[in-house]
Amino acid sequence: MRLSLKWKFTLFLAGLLLFTIAVLSSLIMNGVARYQRNQMESSLEQLVNTAQIRVTQQYISGTRIPPQTFMNVEGQKLANELGSNSGTRVLLYGMNGQVFGDSLPMATKADVADALSFALQNKIAYLTEGDTLHYLAPLQGTDGQLGVIQFDSSLFAQNSFYQQLLHLFLYSGLGVLVISFLFGQFYMNRQAAAISRLKTETDHIRMGQYLPSPGLARKDELGELSSGIFDMSQAIKANLDAQKQFFDNISHEFKTPLTAIKANADLMQMYDDDPVMIRESSSAIAHESTRLYELVETALHLSALEKYSFDNHPEPVQIDELLEDLCLRLKGKTDKSGITLHKRLAPFIIWADRNSLTHIFLNLLDNAIKYNIQNGEITVQSRQIEQEIEIVIQDTGIGIPPEERKRIFEPFYTIHADRARQTGGTGLGLALVRQFVEKQNGTIRVEEGPDGHGSTFVVRFRAYTFE
Ligand code: ADP
Repeated sequence: MRLSLKWKFTLFLAGLLLFTIAVLSSLIMNGVARYQRNQMESSLEQLVNTAQIRVTQQYISGTRIPPQTFMNVEGQKLANELGSNSGTRVLLYGMNGQVFGDSLPMATKADVADALSFALQNKIAYLTEGDTLHYLAPLQGTDGQLGVIQFDSSLFAQNSFYQQLLHLFLYSGLGVLVISFLFGQFYMNRQAAAISRLKTETDHIRMGQYLPSPGLARKDELGELSSGIFDMSQAIKANLDAQKQFFDNISHEFKTPLTAIKANADLMQMYDDDPVMIRESSSAIAHESTRLYELVETALHLSALEKYSFDNHPEPVQIDELLEDLCLRLKGKTDKSGITLHKRLAPFIIWADRNSLTHIFLNLLDNAIKYNIQNGEITVQSRQIEQEIEIVIQDTGIGIPPEERKRIFEPFYTIHADRARQTGGTGLGLALVRQFVEKQNGTIRVEEGPDGHGSTFVVRFRAYTFE
């Protein structure tokens, strides 16, 4: 059976309150009963003491007669007197167990044989019968026990007080049960409404309707959950938007080379007898298809990087050697543009995947050349900052405006579109670089270049420490 949260809470609350009332009332009832018994006992002891004094007085005042005879002679008179003084029925027994006096001789006598035999052995004994307490105590003479005195005390007032108290607890228990049910239902209705509201929100997200704001404005765990759901909704939306943009961009980027290829293919068909035209068109087709191929490669790489942790084999890499090697590989390009390369490299070792590092720095150096000015400069340096190694690539190129610095790491984002196109740029290079850096647990940022000209790319990785 599926029990809703509302019912679970209500039943729990009702159970808890009932339990508390039951424990409390039984403690109180026990206390009351004990108090009543003590009161009763002490007032009966008092009566017995008074009676004892009166009987002793009577016993020693006259001529000495045997106890049995004394009881026979004085019993009824004493019982009447003690009865009217105490306001309870009084019975007097001789040591043979015979009744010698009864303040209410007409009333029926209770069977107190057991208690009487006890009392005849000089002990106090009592028993209750309905609303009456029969209290039997030994009476002392001058030479040992004289007989037994019995007080029949009414328990009616006590019992009815006890009953009233019991009813009070029963009714208050019932009242509490009803109230806790109502309260529990009312309170939990509100909580359950909040929860089902959150459930509706998740349904909306599932159907692609993202939330404009958190559904619940409360300062408790449900409020936190609500803002968590809202954050999740925002994140999913941003992710989907980014994917959509990526898809739009990539379609657009594919279109340019494809249009060129198609146009050149048409030209070849139209002028199939013109060898110059055929040569030019086929070379254009070759150029554009290479560009298309690279574009597809990079896009696939980027999406694979986002999805899987591709081949990643971290190892200790001597970063200065790697950078020296890359500078050497780019020498042809730098020479062509008359760019001077300065290197300030220290022998640092970092723990990373060598291929990823090659990719990262090749891209950054390539950009430093691509977006440089004629006869510009590039400086590559490395330095240690606490536990990290920082590699800085500075160029004296066209620079990146401060407001664009965050965005250049987004896929397809290009500032210098003309220049990028000329050099075959797609706007994917830095997006890929950032992915690679993050996969190697590093960080990358861009700042302005030395003296406010050009750009400075700063990449940081954890230093490799020998242990
Ligand atoms: P692209 O393939 O177009 O070079 P990137 O992702 O490598 O794509 O770079 C994104 C954009 O950032 C480039 O189009 C360019 O506008 C700018 N950029 C990158 N590196 C530099 C740099 N060193 N100096 C100036 N601008 C740069």
